[in-house]
Amino acid sequence: MNERFDAIVVGAGPAGNAAAYTMASAGLKVLQIERGEYPGSKNVQGAILYSDALEKIIPDFRDDAPLERHIIEQRMWVLDDESFVGTHFRSDDYNKPPYNRYTIIRAQFDKWFSSKVREAGALLICETTVSELLVDGNRVVGVRCDREGGDIFADVVILADGVNSTLARKAGFHAEISPGNVALAVKEILFMPQEAIEARFNITEDEGVVIEAIGKITDGMMGTGFLYTNKDSLTIGIGCMLADFKGSPNRTSPYAVLERMKKHPAIAPMIAGGEMKEYCAHLIPEGGFYAVPRVFGDGWMIVGDSGGFVNSVHREGSNLAMTTGRLAAETAIAAKEAGKGFGAASLKAYKAALDESFVMKDLHKYRDMPDVFHRNNQFFTTYPELVNRAAKTMITVDGVDKKTKEREIFGDFRQKRSLVGLMGDAFKLWRAFR
Ligand SMILES: Cc1cc2nc3c(=O)[nH]c(=O)nc-3n(C[C@H](O)[C@H](O)[C@H](O)COP(=O)(O)OP(=O)(O)OC[C@H]3O[C@@H](n4cnc5c(N)ncnc54)[C@H](O)[C@@H]3O)c2cc1C
Repeated sequence: MNERFDAIVVGAGPAGNAAAYTMASAGLKVLQIERGEYPGSKNVQGAILYSDALEKIIPDFRDDAPLERHIIEQRMWVLDDESFVGTHFRSDDYNKPPYNRYTIIRAQFDKWFSSKVREAGALLICETTVSELLVDGNRVVGVRCDREGGDIFADVVILADGVNSTLARKAGFHAEISPGNVALAVKEILFMPQEAIEARFNITEDEGVVIEAIGKITDGMMGTGFLYTNKDSLTIGIGCMLADFKGSPNRTSPYAVLERMKKHPAIAPMIAGGEMKEYCAHLIPEGGFYAVPRVFGDGWMIVGDSGGFVNSVHREGSNLAMTTGRLAAETAIAAKEAGKGFGAASLKAYKAALDESFVMKDLHKYRDMPDVFHRNNQFFTTYPELVNRAAKTMITVDGVDKKTKEREIFGDFRQKRSLVGLMGDAFKLWRAFR
């Protein structure tokens, strides 16, 4: 292709679409390249869409985006083998427009987002893989595609090619992602009549529920499970650290962990009768603050999963992906307007914007969380058991007085973790969430 562009965006996931849309809307000449047959064909996500990031890009997205259900209830469960202890949040106040989050089906959503990108004026090429970045000295000047005559030039290249970006690795921008910094997640979509979903989850049309779960379901590995209500399907999935799968003494597979979760007595009745229509697996960056690489340089910026942006507290990757995509695009727009070129000196404004945003602030706040939970599997094994046993002891009415029950529970905790262990664990939790 002989044409030259202001910007090339590699990838048409949430990060790439956010970047391409923002730049094209501001009048930049944008080319977006996606290896999939269509945007969304290669993408895996739960999926919860958080409105805030998209609202800042397409304020009226609710008018025509393919949204499944708005979330009115969030459940957090700690599971042992037979039971769970949980918190549920549900409020009429949260159930008012404009809604804060929705379930979506990624294939449909990415297609819709991409149609907006094209309406804004960007050119999209699908079924084309960018095989490497074109470099002149230290400066990225374009991309090479796996097609004949596939060298294309631009002032700036935005890498939105997802987790474990081969392009960034080849260019030496970051090393191969380590198994200790990435989770392997599997999920299924189970079809079920709408009425069954609404009866089982106590919701009406368009309302939805999210369940996040930790505990014995991950077989001693660091990870979480999730269950989301779509219009006429449920999404169920689980993700655990890749390093833990590799070192698992039980040689557990992702498939086996998901099957175990589906059979849990608290979960099985909710998914009973669901017909499996989709099964997929994907990596999720989990390294947190310390794993974010350099995200800009002469003629390039990295956005979304490709930059390892993740917030371990919520499964919020697409929110971060869209926000980083928008911030990189705004940096490119400002650089073009200033006429000072797209060197690192101009593009460092992207890092400054990230640092000012919730993206880096939250990553920094929870900087020790991945390390704390990865090194302390008692939070996924011993404590779920202890907490569930304590709950059972307290709610069982059997003639034993409550003081004796409290002593029994405390004794149980001391026997399993010792006083020093309990104090150490409290400190670790403080470190993770401070
Ligand atoms: C099981 C699971 C559940 C999740 N649930 C949620 C959730 O509920 N909410 C949430 O916010 N996040 C969730 N996430 C995280 C979320 O999916 C990611 O954070 C998000 O997709 C990142 O967007 P992205 O645009 O950076 O990357 P991607 O969505 O991975 O997009 C990258 C795109 O680049 C393309 N590409 C890659 N290499 C090339 C190349 N060389 N040339 C051309 N194209 C290329 C790919 O085909 C792909 O389309 C979940 C992730 C998983 C795996």
